[in-house]
Amino acid sequence: MVVDGSEVSRTIISRIIKAEMANTHIVTCGSGEEALAHLSLERFDLITTSLMLPDMDGLDLARQARQSDTHHYTPIVVVSGDADSRLLREGFDAGVTDYFDKSLGYQPFVEFIKTITRRTAGLVGRVLYVEDSKTAAMITRHIMEKQGLKITHTTTAEDALKLLEDAAQSTDPNDGFDIIVTDFYLKGNLTGGDLLHAVRTRLHYSHQEMPVLIVTVPDNAQKQAEVFHAGANDFVTKPIIEEILIARIHSLLLIKQQFNALKRQAEEMRLIAATDSLTGVKSKRYLLDNGEKFVSDMDNHPACAFLLDIDHFKMINDEKGHITGDHVLSELGGLLNDSFSKDSIIVRFGGEEFAIILPRTSIETAKIKAEAIRRKVERLMPVSLPITISLGIASTLDHPDIDLNTLLQLADKALYAAKEGGRNRICIHSAQSVEHLILPDMDSGIFEFLNQGDPVPP
Ligand code: GH3
Ligand code: MG
Ligand code: MG
Ligand code: MG
Repeated sequence: MVVDGSEVSRTIISRIIKAEMANTHIVTCGSGEEALAHLSLERFDLITTSLMLPDMDGLDLARQARQSDTHHYTPIVVVSGDADSRLLREGFDAGVTDYFDKSLGYQPFVEFIKTITRRTAGLVGRVLYVEDSKTAAMITRHIMEKQGLKITHTTTAEDALKLLEDAAQSTDPNDGFDIIVTDFYLKGNLTGGDLLHAVRTRLHYSHQEMPVLIVTVPDNAQKQAEVFHAGANDFVTKPIIEEILIARIHSLLLIKQQFNALKRQAEEMRLIAATDSLTGVKSKRYLLDNGEKFVSDMDNHPACAFLLDIDHFKMINDEKGHITGDHVLSELGGLLNDSFSKDSIIVRFGGEEFAIILPRTSIETAKIKAEAIRRKVERLMPVSLPITISLGIASTLDHPDIDLNTLLQLADKALYAAKEGGRNRICIHSAQSVEHLILPDMDSGIFEFLNQGDPVPP
């Protein structure tokens, strides 16, 4: 919420916030009355106000906002042109969180808002709350809900465990919880301590992944120490003090959010490492990490490997330049990605060389697929240039124990033969015996040519 008597100021402030945080919903108000009316209707995460409003003192607005249940903790920032000494004297008492001197300008304001939101963000989360006392549950639930937290309440550890197990099974990221708040003593067979134990050992949640806050009795230092040994992140004592409960949940949610951010980052990095940035197909790294299982015998179905290489690609680079060459590679990558089913792996194997692993594919099917892609490439005309490929095929047929590396070596030999045979063609490696396959040797294989394309002039 942006409160300011001047329309120009309101517009500038909301524009700056919007530019920095695109998904922000902003309400602007020209007076204190208007602001108070809105505060009673909606819950805001941040309020900025000028010191002087047409109908009210900015500090009075802060005081009144603080008295409301919903905005008791909402950060309130005074944005003003003159660093009034009254602000320093009274502001904090009035409930002002911080103060920004407008004369410092645009960029510092951006930084200031970012810092404020980073410091105060956090009370967004789903709480699994376990408490068997109805009265305690009602009060505590209200305290947490006021903050915007989403509460799922159970009265027993058994029910809580059931919910956690269901969430662990679910593939929907919106299922599940960000934090567990549990009473230590519970009716039923399991205590909060048992729940905690199950969360850490059976469900394998780390302290960061699933923070647990235990509600326990005061004056029992022994119990409080035990709670930490059992894997709790923190504890609060009964009767619950609102400020303390909220502060603890806040800090635990920050830990959880950092954990989520790191997890997302790791996932992104994994995807980047698995993809070749120029062509959009998988990286060689990905093939080395995942290829073996595609080749290993799948219920007696053979797998095939293609190795394909652009013919006379060096000429494109030499004549049209390296950047044009890159465009060709990128278009070919797109074509390959679009031409094979999801269960095959398409990999940039080297500069202008691609490997494709086709699980559960007979040699006959492989031949048809290879010929189809050879023709598609002929017609592709990337950046209006005619290109062709040579392609080598090797199959695991009759040799279920062949490893990925050996299979690719055989495909490479077939590719070499296709090049030697005149390019723009496909060659299949088939061996006479297992021995020959284990120690691949150029002379031991029979190369079967599927000669469809015209030879490409060098
Ligand atoms: P062949 O038909 O025998 O395969 O001939 P070729 O010219 O395609 O083969 P060669 O191995 O002589 O040359 C491959 C060229 O591919 C050389 C290299 O500079 C180029 N190349 C490798 N990676 C890239 C790349 O990422 N971008 C571009 N533009 N060129 C690349
Ligand atoms: Mg080459
Ligand atoms: Mg080439
Ligand atoms: Mg090559």
